[in-house]
Amino acid sequence: MNAPQPAPSPSASAAAEGDAVIAHKFGGSSVADASRYRHVATVLCERDDPVQVTVVSAMKGVTDALVALADSAAHGEDWHAAHAALHERHRSVARELLGVHADLTVAWIDAQFQELAGILGAIALLGPSGAPAKERVHGMGEVLSARLLADALRGLGQDAIALDAREVLVVGRNELGVAVDWDTSAARLSQWRAEHRQSRIVVTGFVARDAHGVATTLGRNGSDFSGAIFAALFHAAELHIWTDVDGVLSADPRVVPDAVFLPRISYSEACELAYFGAKVVHPQTMAPAIARNLPILIRNSFNPSHPGTRIDAQGDAHSAALAKGLSLVSGLALLNVEGSGMIGVPGTAERVFATLRDAQVSVVMISQGSSEHSICCVVRASQAEAGKAALERAFRQELAQGQIQSVNLETGISVLAAVGDGMAGRPGVAARFLATLARAHVNLRAIAQGASERNISVAIASSDETKALRAAHAGFWLSPQTISIGVIGPGKVGAALLDQLVENAPRLLAESNLDLRLRAIASSRRMWLGEHPPAWREHWSQAEAIDLDAFTAHVHAAHLPHAIIIDCSANPEVAERYADWLSAGIHVITPNKQAGSGPIERYRKIRAAARAGNARFRYEATVGAGLPVIQTLRDLITTGDELHSIEGIFSGTLAWLFNKFDGSQPFSALVREAHALGYTEPDPRDDLSGTDVARKLERSSRGSGSV
Ligand code: ADP
Ligand code: ASP
Ligand code: MG
Repeated sequence: MNAPQPAPSPSASAAAEGDAVIAHKFGGSSVADASRYRHVATVLCERDDPVQVTVVSAMKGVTDALVALADSAAHGEDWHAAHAALHERHRSVARELLGVHADLTVAWIDAQFQELAGILGAIALLGPSGAPAKERVHGMGEVLSARLLADALRGLGQDAIALDAREVLVVGRNELGVAVDWDTSAARLSQWRAEHRQSRIVVTGFVARDAHGVATTLGRNGSDFSGAIFAALFHAAELHIWTDVDGVLSADPRVVPDAVFLPRISYSEACELAYFGAKVVHPQTMAPAIARNLPILIRNSFNPSHPGTRIDAQGDAHSAALAKGLSLVSGLALLNVEGSGMIGVPGTAERVFATLRDAQVSVVMISQGSSEHSICCVVRASQAEAGKAALERAFRQELAQGQIQSVNLETGISVLAAVGDGMAGRPGVAARFLATLARAHVNLRAIAQGASERNISVAIASSDETKALRAAHAGFWLSPQTISIGVIGPGKVGAALLDQLVENAPRLLAESNLDLRLRAIASSRRMWLGEHPPAWREHWSQAEAIDLDAFTAHVHAAHLPHAIIIDCSANPEVAERYADWLSAGIHVITPNKQAGSGPIERYRKIRAAARAGNARFRYEATVGAGLPVIQTLRDLITTGDELHSIEGIFSGTLAWLFNKFDGSQPFSALVREAHALGYTEPDPRDDLSGTDVARKLERSSRGSGSV
């Protein structure tokens, strides 16, 4: 999947440098404004690299702006204002960075933007045939950036020079993407180096030239690849890729805030993570490094004293971790070729992939059931229609004759991959991965495990992706299990529970890795929706009108893997919702006796939903107050005991009342007292009429499985 590019031959290197070369790459996230350029220049100056090669990206956001400019021009829209804004941004960074020495650089920037305006004008005229010129526009941010950094280094008294990669780097394209012409590039670099002997060289990332001399790029995020290419061409001893995080983490920290730092990973692990979308490094970066056994260090330019992640051939050979990282690719689609006529027919899979290859549709993931009844491939959404059409053409005859029933296309798909060398040969990794996803109620559309066993990937609906990533992360690492909680009925029991929840959440997080997030409170008339308030009563006083659908949606947020609704009301309308909640994967916990008793149909629906879904229904507190009656009864029956009769005092309230009543005060006063002490149901008539006793009996007999 990630076949390395042909290795640069040992002769295909720049004229041997006398001194050790250390290569660096700074991404756009490290160079956003003048102070960041200054900081990068300082980091570089403080190092004693004998020869220092620094590949730099465009300033943060600049490539996006250039892509938008070229698109506007191609669509005949007015691009002048955006061009002027980008021009001004560069001028002002140059002035702030270089102070009194800025004039020459600013004049050069002005010339670059004049040239850019000329190209944009040409793109507007050429329309679709202006595509090659667009590439030239896309790469201008790097040209500007390299000059700014080189001038900043010179401003600090350093012997620095900028190298426009297009002067030396020649690339072609093949099925795997960009292919470097190592011999030509190396020859050109040695020629350039013979004329430029500076010890600090700042190289433009992202840009290159094709065999015809036309300016091109290495694809979005391609400066990491440039870093590895120039590290190889310069025979560097190390490549430091500087970005805005401490190194490679177990998942994208923007999605999984508690992702853990990985001190060492292998080239293969980095390849897999990058291929499956970990933006921290571009997928093609590894190949030149593997070919030369060049260690790559991913480091944080905002925290330069941190050692970062080391990527090399060994990785972390002693790691006990089952999976090292999780990554996610969005914007995919599922193509499914299905038909009983495929069973046992050799070569069908091959035809499917040949067809897709001929239609230039790249396949991200493949899965075929061993029954051979269907072949399923995940492709980029932008290529999916073309892929479907190509397959329908290729299998026209089989479709007409019914050997193949259909070629289905489904969009809105993402692939989640678990990656790690430690997965090879260890049973149970897939089980853990899949079980965690099942518990989070994520439906798996297809599953694939690479033969290397370094990766297990699942195709899922994109709407589930955040939830799936977080749940899987919590399943593999000791990151907290996050549970979204909604409480209904903040009466006596509910309020006490809410107090306990808020008070104990920090301790549970620290001691049990359980992140309980109180996110919603509702009564029969009002509700509050939010995110774990430190003092829930204040928020409750500003509650809005009740809308149980909105309440449910908020508790069941897509980004949180688990949701629980705790119903402390005595409201039959809420009990009506249990079955739907359970079916949707929301766990229900309740001391509300309505569901356990009440119409048998409702009860059966609830039980069926609890059995079918992945959600649990917990109602222990409906009988025996806090005592574990129901579970004990169930355990006894499950392990072979038989239920002959149930005996007990079924109403604590009535027992208390009869014990107290001696005629010295009216019965009604005692009832009032019991109510005030919290011994009665919210409506004491439920106790006095025997309804509560009846409900408990009903609950116990249903709980014992006898109804
Ligand atoms: P640069 O501009 O330096 O190339 P990028 O934005 O391209 O930076 O890549 C760095 C970002 O990659 C981080 O800010 C982080 O949000 C994201 N990222 C995604 N997956 C991971 C991961 N597994 N480990 C670390 N960062 C990751
Ligand atoms: N500037 C380019 C981009 O934004 C390349 C890079 O930053 O790696 O895609
Ligand atoms: Mg990047």
